[in-house]
Amino acid sequence: MTASEQAPLHHDGRAGERSRDLFAAARAVIPGGVNSPVRAFASVGGEPPFIKSARGPYIYTEDGAELVDYVGSWGPALLGHGREEVVEAVVRAARSGLSFGACTAAETVFAERLCEIVPSLRGGMVRLVSSGTEATMSALRLARGYTGRSKIIKAEGGYHGHADMLLVAAGSGAATLGIPGSAGVPAAAVVDTLTVPYNDLEAVGRSFAANPGEIAAIIIEPVAGNMGCVPPVAGYLEGLRELCTAHGAVLIFDEVMTGFRVALGGAQERFGVTPDMTCLGKIIGGGMPVGAYGGRREIMEKIAPLGPVYQAGTLSGNPLGVAAGLATLEILTRENPYPALEKTTQALVCALAERAAKHGVELSSNQVGAMFCGFFRGGQVRDYSDAKGSDTARFGLFHREMLARGVYLAPSQFEAAFVSVTHDGAAIERTLEAADGAFAAVAASKGA
Ligand SMILES: *Cc1c(COP(=O)(O)O)cnc(C)c1O
Repeated sequence: MTASEQAPLHHDGRAGERSRDLFAAARAVIPGGVNSPVRAFASVGGEPPFIKSARGPYIYTEDGAELVDYVGSWGPALLGHGREEVVEAVVRAARSGLSFGACTAAETVFAERLCEIVPSLRGGMVRLVSSGTEATMSALRLARGYTGRSKIIKAEGGYHGHADMLLVAAGSGAATLGIPGSAGVPAAAVVDTLTVPYNDLEAVGRSFAANPGEIAAIIIEPVAGNMGCVPPVAGYLEGLRELCTAHGAVLIFDEVMTGFRVALGGAQERFGVTPDMTCLGKIIGGGMPVGAYGGRREIMEKIAPLGPVYQAGTLSGNPLGVAAGLATLEILTRENPYPALEKTTQALVCALAERAAKHGVELSSNQVGAMFCGFFRGGQVRDYSDAKGSDTARFGLFHREMLARGVYLAPSQFEAAFVSVTHDGAAIERTLEAADGAFAAVAASKGA
């Protein structure tokens, strides 16, 4: 049953009585009431609306609100929610068996498709896993096994999943909640994790110079998407490529968010820089839990059972996930929605900036392909320290005002917003009307 078959819809997305009851029940048995901390509304105030269904660019709350969705399940919903072709592929796969833990033909087809589409996988290999976290932790273990080195470099405000070694200066929910390093991570797990400011090539050069022959890999989001949205400055990715080549380190692009979003072949296609390894997730599962890591053949051949680096997964290459992923890739390849997505997103970001300016609200916007973000500050945002300079109280107010007007944004300043192919004129128009009111409210709240 879709929400449109029920009682009249409204556009006030704030948690109503039913969502509040559901949240109270959830909190009794699930820590914080959420199965991932980014879903909590801790940093924006209020309680999360519970979601009942979703279709196209809209999600429907348990309180009967229809909201324009810019979270898109945190990225996967590039095709919008409930695309029939994808749902049918999953249903068809389910009827043949939910999981076998054994080889299936579709896994190979999926891997072949990935190796055609993603530049760094061409002529290489890819291994399927069940989440982005698994992809990054496995890629790093492999890079360490391949190079025989221990140290890794990541960017401040970069988020690569929740593996111990990566919870250092981490973005996304860790940044939102002010715990960029986590309790429970032993010091020994992070001694080999070096951090550098994003977009600062010299800092990376200094890290290499200070640790000669010891750096196994750089892992980087080629467009940072977990401190808001922060594009690479000109020459940054090229410079990382050169440094890794010069020092024999593995360059890993974490394209869990950017893969199939900023271009079909990801940021590496868009910016023309090919890493040694790539991590994928989110969109490749089309809404199902799928991740992947892959790259150059001589590196990938070090994974068990071919090589000595161990990595495994009971549900890896799961038939439902593969079916959803294959159907998604098929549609993206066939329809090439990227030029239209770029246009829609650019126009939206421009129009939002105009509304902000009209009300005298300082907003610094970044956009790459179908991902964007508005920081509540002036000037440019090029790294995590710039991002942290935004007025999160203003963002919180803006978020609440948008939600009350029918627009569902990620409940944090340090997350990107995602546009889908189904965000049409009506959805955008509603977004802009809401933004006009929300910016007015921000402008009116003195002090904020
Ligand atoms: C979401 C994300 C991850 C983690 O993926 P999960 O599926 O949540 O484990 C890793 N890296 C990046 C860049 C992400 O955006």
